Amino acid sequence: WLVLGIESSCDDTGAAVVRGDGTVLGEVLASQAGVHEGWGGVVPKLAQAAHAAAIDRTVDEALRISGVSPSDLSAVAVTVGPGLSLCLEVGVKKAVALAREHQLLLVRAHHMECHAMVTWLPTQPPPRVDLPVGGATAAAPKPAACEAPQAAAATPSSSAALDQKALAISQGIPTASTTLSPDGVPPFPFLTLLVSGGHNMLVLSSGLGRHSILGSTLDDSIGEAFDKTARLLGLQKVPGGPELEKLARDGDEHRHSLPAPLSRTRDEGLRASCDFSFSGLKSAVRMLIDTHLPAEKLAELNEEQKHAELAHIAASFQRVAVEHLAMRTARAIEWARAIEPDLSCVVVAGGVAANLRVRSELARVASDAGLAMVCPPLRLCTDNGVMVAWTGMQRLRLGLGERPLRLDAEADVVALCVEVRPRWPIGPRDRRSTTQQQ
Ligand code: ATP
Ligand code: FE
Repeated sequence: WLVLGIESSCDDTGAAVVRGDGTVLGEVLASQAGVHEGWGGVVPKLAQAAHAAAIDRTVDEALRISGVSPSDLSAVAVTVGPGLSLCLEVGVKKAVALAREHQLLLVRAHHMECHAMVTWLPTQPPPRVDLPVGGATAAAPKPAACEAPQAAAATPSSSAALDQKALAISQGIPTASTTLSPDGVPPFPFLTLLVSGGHNMLVLSSGLGRHSILGSTLDDSIGEAFDKTARLLGLQKVPGGPELEKLARDGDEHRHSLPAPLSRTRDEGLRASCDFSFSGLKSAVRMLIDTHLPAEKLAELNEEQKHAELAHIAASFQRVAVEHLAMRTARAIEWARAIEPDLSCVVVAGGVAANLRVRSELARVASDAGLAMVCPPLRLCTDNGVMVAWTGMQRLRLGLGERPLRLDAEADVVALCVEVRPRWPIGPRDRRSTTQQQ
């Protein structure tokens, strides 16, 4: 079997072809990094234009490097939600057009389930082909730069040597293909911590399409908190999360004490929950910068001193944010075990699972509970076409492929029947979590 996966839910246009045994034949990504810089977030109209400009090239190139023609495919899988509707529509339109033209099955994919399932890809993917974003977006006018302390200058210590160190650490962390599931069959039930730009959830995963939410964020996701805090620290690149992680490697994570999120309700008996909150932590960083690093003080520091001060704040923020994830995940393991005593492992997935501090801390939490923690390969944590193709493959095996055509006999027209679902919960909230919320 061969499945083409198409992803366009946010700011990455991705396409990949995956074979039934999990081999990735080819993967292409047109990232919009740069397009939204200076806007303070992803601008839906700009993102839509960039997807529209990139979608044909991305899909054509993925098929070309895979050595596959559309008629060889068994199905096209496409993200139909959750995400930005303007963006989702671009991918869905392309998938439907391909399926119609080549008589292929179409598989609707849930973006967050794809993030989780790519953990079980049984093979290492080959290098990805990156396409530059093109078309109108490149020339889009930018707003004035947002207010922030001077960008932390990269010091020699934060670049090559540390990237090597990060790589070495990440290679020591197992992925599913090397441990629990060499054949790619997910060992349901497991607990999934989904940490990304738009979501922050603890989910009990009992099967494909069978997930129940134990906890989610009351405000921002951790990805959003990383991105906003990165901006406060003057990091200009978008997304800011990976930049903040790099900066934090140069800092002392115990230099500043920041309030633990939801600490007032932390050990609160009946009100104990697996929910998250990150907006207070972000505000605390803003206050810390205002008091500890006001503009007059920054002006007195040389580049190296400035870098060190910002790195201490980044590291302290990251420590508290990751401890919050860890504490809630430890609690969720207990909850999940009360429902499914044979819990197999803890999956950590989504863009923020690329963060090495997140990986190592969650590995510790899982191991304290006698469980393994598994993550997707680093490169597949953020949005990509492989996760859609691989999840689509598994849905196809369950008979969930469909013809995207509806024959309306009376009107004698063929109507499209694939709708995008910008809001699409991955599953119901578990009863226990809703009880705790009241
Ligand atoms: P969602 O998946 O919820 O719809 P999204 O698709 O925009 O949102 P992802 O692509 O899964 O999000 O993840 C992007 C997020 O991950 C961004 O917020 C980014 O800053 C964050 N991120 C990526 N790498 C790292 C890292 N190394 N450390 C911290 N954050 C990171
Ligand atoms: Fe995502």
